[in-house]
Amino acid sequence: MSVLTYKCPSCGAPLVYDGNKQELTCGNCGNSFTPDVVREVAEIENQDAGFERMEWDVKDDSFSAGEAARTKAYSCSSCGSQLMTDETTVATNCAFCGSPSILEVQFTDETRPQTIVPFLVTKDKATQMFKDYFKGKRLLPNLFLKGNQIDEIRQMYVPYWMFACQADARLTYNATQVSTSRSGNYMITRTRHFLVRRAGTLSFSELPVDASSKMNNDITESIEPYALKDGIPFSPETLSGALANRADQTPEQCVERANARVTNTTADVFRSTVQGYTTVVPRNTSIRVVNGSSIPVLLPVWLITTVKGQKTYTFAINGQTGELTTDIPYSKAKFHKWLWGLTALIGAGSFVVLYVLGSMGVLR
Ligand SMILES: [Zn+2]
Ligand SMILES: [Zn+2]
Repeated sequence: MSVLTYKCPSCGAPLVYDGNKQELTCGNCGNSFTPDVVREVAEIENQDAGFERMEWDVKDDSFSAGEAARTKAYSCSSCGSQLMTDETTVATNCAFCGSPSILEVQFTDETRPQTIVPFLVTKDKATQMFKDYFKGKRLLPNLFLKGNQIDEIRQMYVPYWMFACQADARLTYNATQVSTSRSGNYMITRTRHFLVRRAGTLSFSELPVDASSKMNNDITESIEPYALKDGIPFSPETLSGALANRADQTPEQCVERANARVTNTTADVFRSTVQGYTTVVPRNTSIRVVNGSSIPVLLPVWLITTVKGQKTYTFAINGQTGELTTDIPYSKAKFHKWLWGLTALIGAGSFVVLYVLGSMGVLR
């Protein structure tokens, strides 16, 4: 004889059928459920099982022989960064650490950028932004009250993978509503348990993931977004006068970060729609990436360093939009502003299903 064990929709403990009440009861949390509710919950979980699929079409081209011949590669013996530029540009300092110990090396193939977004912010403008930053900021550490100067200003292209997809999501939550009322000498607390279900589609466009291990993700994510529509097709000549960091994160590593950003943004967006409960605990999140694509791009960044009290502080400016970030303590909050990619938009056709699981009264 086979026994099918149902699990408590509220706490996961095994349920026991109570013939008198004609309900399934949970010895752990004390809830009881009609067989219909238990069946319905099991059905939802079956539907969501195996739904998740996060696959991306990663476009990984390599340089043509002609392009490779017109590209120069450099290696910095001070910080280890790998850089490249076109054949006419002579690099004398490392774009990351400013060190002059930068050597031309043999160009070896790597991911070929498909698009490059040119600098719109000039060096003068970036310099002015640095100066303006210190004006009228009362919460700045005293160290920065005067005598702020640029020690290095460097123009650099940072390699990114630009991801785009539609994310079909199914999420469930355990939620409760607790109400208290007085009855004679008793306070009656009533807890109603709900299984809340959300499903819908988010579309992500131009979700950037930095492909350079040398660039701190906090910095790159703080100066997003970039508008890819103003990019131009890459050729070695488009680098002229500037250095590009070579991509050293594999597409697989970048996919992992894209998945994390899609998952976290989806969880945040849907969680914000679950309102009116005393408690809400996520139960299951399944995401299916549809039409997931990614292309390698180079994005413009101004890096400015200033030395104060034997410590080096970095400013990074988006070379396209002028968005600025810095690791000076005052602006810490801003570092995480874009952490989970605010580029997601809820698509049409989100639907919502709500099940009342059961209710339980407690006397005390
Ligand atoms: Zn239970
Ligand atoms: Zn260096």
